[in-house]
Amino acid sequence: MISVPRQHQHEHGDEHGHGHGHGHGPGQHTHDDVHPGKTAIRSDPQESEETIVLEQKVLAKNDLLADHNRTHMAQHGIVAINLMSSPGAGKTTLLERTVRSTNHRVAVIEGDQETLLDADRIAATGARVVQVNTGAGCHLDAAMLQRALSQLSAEDNTLLLIENVGNLVCPALFDLGEQMKVVIISVTEGDDKPLKYPHIFAAADLVVVNKTDLLPYVDFDMAVCERNARSVNPDVRILALSARTGEGLDTWLSELDRVMPVVA
Ligand code: MG
Ligand code: ZN
Repeated sequence: MISVPRQHQHEHGDEHGHGHGHGHGPGQHTHDDVHPGKTAIRSDPQESEETIVLEQKVLAKNDLLADHNRTHMAQHGIVAINLMSSPGAGKTTLLERTVRSTNHRVAVIEGDQETLLDADRIAATGARVVQVNTGAGCHLDAAMLQRALSQLSAEDNTLLLIENVGNLVCPALFDLGEQMKVVIISVTEGDDKPLKYPHIFAAADLVVVNKTDLLPYVDFDMAVCERNARSVNPDVRILALSARTGEGLDTWLSELDRVMPVVA
């Protein structure tokens, strides 16, 4: 197992705007404050415009690198899947089980702000793994994937599972060159997640609802979650599973077969 040292820590609003650039001075607040909960307060439009220009530049550069990654991986038969979720949705547990259950040759890239903990878990399965620590950064970008790929030196015809940093916001914006974007939510999070974080659900090819073994103990309505996900992404595929018990895992494994040709 190898770890890739962070090469640059991006600060919020420096490399890409996260909407943190705007202050919270008194001028920004409106009479909405008088009726909290009734009206959403949105950011200052002028400051947002500057943020958008900066973000577009960063994203255009990222998209070029993502295309480069895509071409490189296609040449080597590497199929990459970008797994995105909040912290604690069970990405690493799903990866552990996937590595142990799939027939494909698998390699893993682990994204976390700090530690090698998740990479250690994956390494214990025997899969090749590289940990990327993003420091202050809250998502993986195409440049990080490029560096991780060169560290990984995966064999040709490998299924590459990329665990993004736990965050449902900016990973949606950063194409890595992957073939499939998967958003994982767990039943402990609430079935309204797709409405609160519509961008990442709109970008997803597949939504995985994890921890179905906990359904009896939580107020999570699968039908409502599906309806909410489809309201932002009408064609998205949705499947439910428990990475802990293995329930529903077959459907997940066949989703991987859809994008990864089975090698004879
Ligand atoms: Mg993890
Ligand atoms: Zn970010």
